Amino acid sequence: VAPPPTVSLSDRFARELGEMALPWQAEEAPEPRLLALNEPLATGLGLDPAALRTPEGLRLLVGTGVPDGATPVAQAYAGHQFGGFAPRLGDGRALLLGELVDAEGRLRDLHLKGSGRTPFARGGDGLAAIGPMLREYVISEAMHALGIPTTRSLAVVATGRQVRRETLLPGAVLARVASSHLRVGSFQYARVTDDLDLLRRLADHAIARHRVGAGEEGAARAENPYLALFEAVVSAQASLVASWMLVGFVHGVMNTDNMTISGETIDYGPCAFLDAFDPATVYSSIDTGGRYAYGNQPLVAEWNLARLAEALLPLLHDDEAQAIPVAVEALRGFRPRYEAAWTAGMRAKLGLTAASDDDTVASLAVDLLELLHRDHVDLTSFFRGLASAARGDAEPTRLLFLDLAGIDGWLARWRALQPDPDGMDRVNPVYIPRNHLVEEALDAATGGDLGPLDRLLDAVTAPYDQRPGLERYAAPAPQDFGVYRTFC
Ligand code: AMP
Ligand code: MG
Ligand code: MG
Repeated sequence: VAPPPTVSLSDRFARELGEMALPWQAEEAPEPRLLALNEPLATGLGLDPAALRTPEGLRLLVGTGVPDGATPVAQAYAGHQFGGFAPRLGDGRALLLGELVDAEGRLRDLHLKGSGRTPFARGGDGLAAIGPMLREYVISEAMHALGIPTTRSLAVVATGRQVRRETLLPGAVLARVASSHLRVGSFQYARVTDDLDLLRRLADHAIARHRVGAGEEGAARAENPYLALFEAVVSAQASLVASWMLVGFVHGVMNTDNMTISGETIDYGPCAFLDAFDPATVYSSIDTGGRYAYGNQPLVAEWNLARLAEALLPLLHDDEAQAIPVAVEALRGFRPRYEAAWTAGMRAKLGLTAASDDDTVASLAVDLLELLHRDHVDLTSFFRGLASAARGDAEPTRLLFLDLAGIDGWLARWRALQPDPDGMDRVNPVYIPRNHLVEEALDAATGGDLGPLDRLLDAVTAPYDQRPGLERYAAPAPQDFGVYRTFC
């Protein structure tokens, strides 16, 4: 018999920021049953996977068995939702169990989603159905395997409780891990309380937690630590959103409460990956105006960062009027950082070396995306297949296009730059969580069959490593899958 999980959780957030931490308990789970467990992640957190599988381990993972000394809290935050400000959101169905130190000595949040109503729940039931929790598990782990900063998924446990949506669905709790759950909305919350001391403590907490200025920004930190914090978030978000754009990820609900200070992707609700390249792509059923369309994501990130700057203004300068130009100047750093990250990513995807300058790479990439858009070409299979063209066989690539003159002209320009196909295979994934496969896996899991989910996880957690037998995981959706809509 495996020993019970020994886990020591600290309550640093709850202690330092009590005004934003409401002690709360998870709801009972009548019949907990493990649906997914991330063993490598558990081990990296110093947790014994075998112990997590025991009844006591499951109680930890659904929040009903809290280790001694831990103080689970619902975190308060505000947020702009689709552009409108909500001063009081907060964890309506989530709890921060506490922080733990991982094998690399880093502090990590252990957080639950779907653990029952909290005082922030408003009209919500505080619960989650197993489909959406497994969806976050699969997509966040795929993102991690793609090298994109993200919250991680530790486990999904079915609760044995039914959840009322359009129909009755089996409920579940997701246990997730992040370098923190601080959001742009956390700062907006502190700012609207008009409590400058709280805002400063929150910023100090974020600086310590994310080691802002530990590296080359050390000097900036010494001079104006809060400006250094803002610049660090600008930089992390610019590179994060560039990496989304490079893989075709559509977050779907980039409200300011869903944007982290750490630069980790968070809150996998109505998200999805592009198949045919089109900047106007929107999957979320509630995003009727297309605010969070694929192609808008960099602009939205910049808009959200402006909201963070507003929240931080009182800390940027003693005189708020003088703080504005400081904030504006720092926000101006977003575009060049985004461009640099995107161009570096495109350089790698196209297999180009330092011998080609940034302008050449960027114009080649922009022209390519125009061709992909016009002919509705699948983004992921195009880039993966392009390595063959670098190896001398361009036919599979040409077959994807109607405009043969266009792609031939482009291929000639690209080949003249002597792309490296092996390098391309290391950065262009074969397997992404394709929408039809995600739906298939979640439907099967909801019906009790975890096989398709396990196979999908196998494919997408080793995304660059092409394996025989996984052909259908590399292919775009069949025509009859139709237009994809996501719900959250
Ligand atoms: P999200 O759209 O997941 O970012 O959530 C936005 C806000 O709604 C957050 O404050 C959530 O905690 C809250 N929320 C979402 N779903 C539920 C639910 N089923 N019960 C209670 N609160 C919820
Ligand atoms: Mg959220
Ligand atoms: Mg279009």
